[in-house]
Amino acid sequence: MSDTSTSPRRPNIILINCDDLGYGDLGCYGSTCNDTPHLDRLAASGVRFTDFYAAAPVCSASRAALLTGCYSQRVGLADYQVLFPGQAQGLNPRECTIARQLKQVGYATKIIGKWHCGDQPEFLPTRHGFDEYFGIPFSNDMGRQVTHPDRAPLPLLRDETVAQQQPDQRGLTERYVDEALQFMRRPRTDPFFLYLAHMYVHVPLFVPRPFLDRSRNGAYGGAVACIDWAMGMIDAELRRLGLLDDTLVIFTSDNGSRARGEGGSNAPLRGTKAQTWEGGQRVPCIVRWPGRIAPETTCGGIASAIDLFATLAEITGAPLPEAPLDSLSLAPTLLAGSPTPRQSFAYYRGPNLEAVRLGDWKLHFCKFEWTPQGAATRELRELYNLREDAGETTNVIEDHCSVVAAIEAEAEAFRRRFGDRRLNRNGAEIREAGVCPAPRTLTAYDADYPYLVACYDLADMPTMAG
Ligand code: MG
Repeated sequence: MSDTSTSPRRPNIILINCDDLGYGDLGCYGSTCNDTPHLDRLAASGVRFTDFYAAAPVCSASRAALLTGCYSQRVGLADYQVLFPGQAQGLNPRECTIARQLKQVGYATKIIGKWHCGDQPEFLPTRHGFDEYFGIPFSNDMGRQVTHPDRAPLPLLRDETVAQQQPDQRGLTERYVDEALQFMRRPRTDPFFLYLAHMYVHVPLFVPRPFLDRSRNGAYGGAVACIDWAMGMIDAELRRLGLLDDTLVIFTSDNGSRARGEGGSNAPLRGTKAQTWEGGQRVPCIVRWPGRIAPETTCGGIASAIDLFATLAEITGAPLPEAPLDSLSLAPTLLAGSPTPRQSFAYYRGPNLEAVRLGDWKLHFCKFEWTPQGAATRELRELYNLREDAGETTNVIEDHCSVVAAIEAEAEAFRRRFGDRRLNRNGAEIREAGVCPAPRTLTAYDADYPYLVACYDLADMPTMAG
């Protein structure tokens, strides 16, 4: 395997990011209740990461970090981890995204699906390096619901225009796939970058009937199957177009599963979405590039979605931005089997540093002893050896003082950079979020408008849920 930067042809890049898909939700990651033949095949023909981290345990922060190669704290989103419709804040247009980088070296760029880095005009994907956009700009539960009658209708955007309000979510993934295939088919001399950010498996889960009927895991299994089907469709099209060998595919998720009896799984990890236990942030990641990345490979080194920025820059020869990044290139890992360059990872929840991983070890800071009345009395730090105990079951802090000291030093380095509000620490390397002076929602409810779908409440619409 040779150095790709000397390759005469840059690969097409398809980056698939799921919403809330858990570590244990795919067959190739141990699921026994979801069927994912196409994704299992993807893993068999590329590299499957076992210790790959979403940058944050929730949506906006995770996606902003993936796109910029920076911890969300660095790009000013510590206090805006989940952006809401009409919110003033968003990813600062001055930040450089993967799309903007790839455009510099000639890529055609498109995002389909969930953006969630701000819905004001200056924050939209088309202002962040994407030539085109088709999708819902935030979470699929942020539209009108009986339980939330105050909300604006859910917008489906084409570039910067609302193409539809309250679209039928059952058919949306099929529309996303159709949009992806049409983009892939276009005659072009330059390569393309397609960022497909699935709506699934974020609740509410409205799933097409054929996937529901075949599911052994209810609507959740149907949604996972639909994600898998999308992979199958993309692969079939790559094959038909003769682009399979010229296309680098990355498949991952923005955070762990909610796992609240809805059918999702972070097994064998502890915790859920929005938590800094492994289950909140360790997610599936599969990368395939036929002929360049060895098939049937597993990588157990620490890696993060933050690292995709530098990885794709190295592979495509795109210049890195001048502003500091947190991204470490995985290109030598992917192409030559080198160890991953990342030695540590900071688990921030919003502005608070809750844990740090260094090598095989993870130290939690924000565990507290509680009184029966619910008041925190003292902090209980917990140390886990993730190589032996990925499920974080056995706190071994008493036995490893030197490990704790080493992680404390690493934590201090993160606090100096990004702060730690719990300790009243301000970070020295934090840039500003974008702020829109007069924010407004993209849509406004109109009682006379003939919405296709009036609301998205599963309980009120059993036929939608199936
Ligand atoms: Mg999510």
